[in-house]
Parts: sequence; C-alpha cells; structure tokens
Amino acid sequence: MSGGPTICAEWNLKPARGSFVAEALLGKQQNGARRPRPPRKLTRNEEIVLETLRGAALPLKAYDILEQTRALGLKAPMSIYRALASLTRRRLAHRLASLNAYVAAEGGGGDGIGTAFLICRRCGRAREHLIDSRVLRDLLACPDFAFDEVFLEAIGHCADSCEN
Ligand SMILES: [Zn+2]
Repeated sequence: MSGGPTICAEWNLKPARGSFVAEALLGKQQNGARRPRPPRKLTRNEEIVLETLRGAALPLKAYDILEQTRALGLKAPMSIYRALASLTRRRLAHRLASLNAYVAAEGGGGDGIGTAFLICRRCGRAREHLIDSRVLRDLLACPDFAFDEVFLEAIGHCADSCEN
C-alpha cells in the first residue's frame, strides 16, 4: 500500500474520544519511509517524568506530574509536555485519551502493535494488556490494512473488588 494515510474504508477508523475508545492511531510515517529513530539518551527531564510515571499507582495528568516534579526542578508546564511528547513517541509512556492522563509503558511481550488499557472506574488503575495483531485484524475486520499501532481503552471495573 502506498500513498497518504489509509483509513479502513469499512470502519472509517479515526482517533476518537469517549468511554469505549477504539483509537486506531496511524503511524506518522505512512508512506513506507519509516526511518529508525536514532537512539538518543533520555534527557534529564524525560528521565524524571518517566520515573514519576513508573512510580505512580494511577495514571497521572500533566498537572499532577508538574506538582510531583517541582522539587526536582521541573517548574514549567512546557517542560512536562515536551518530556511527555518525547516519551510517548518513544513508546515509553502512553497517553490515555479518555482520562487525558499518562502511564508508563510496561512494554514487552506481544508484537508491539496492539495495546489495550483496562481502566477501572472504582480504583482508577489502568492495566496494560497487549493484543496480538492477528486478533486486531479479526476484530477490526480490515485484512488489507497493516496496523502500525492500535490503542484500545476499555472503561469498567476490576472483577475483584478494589479500593477506590
Ligand atoms: Zn479497580
């Protein structure tokens, strides 16, 4: 497939906001000109923000991160947003659209294409769950579409009782 962004014609997939969000986020490099990103060490700000996300039990909004990192010298909201943008590009962090909040990527396993977040209304936790691309292809019924990334956000509650 070549040309511009290809959205599955049957599904007309577009990033959406809402409770059950099926965001088929198309990769930025659509035309096959995928260039490997040059490995770059994380900046100090990125490291601080990533460690803050990793240490959090719940997804954090940018403002929460700012509050928690102020003592470490991150005082400008723009520093947080820049770090978050870089971390999400590198797939070290994920933005949960339905919460407008961020979590550290757990990563590993699967083929790295499909990620679902199971978000509990009661305890607020977001569990990362990897989805195999073959399952996604069946689910989205687009056999002729090569996914780069698919994010699903499912809102519900933990099967076991959980604290809130
Ligand atoms: Zn829960």
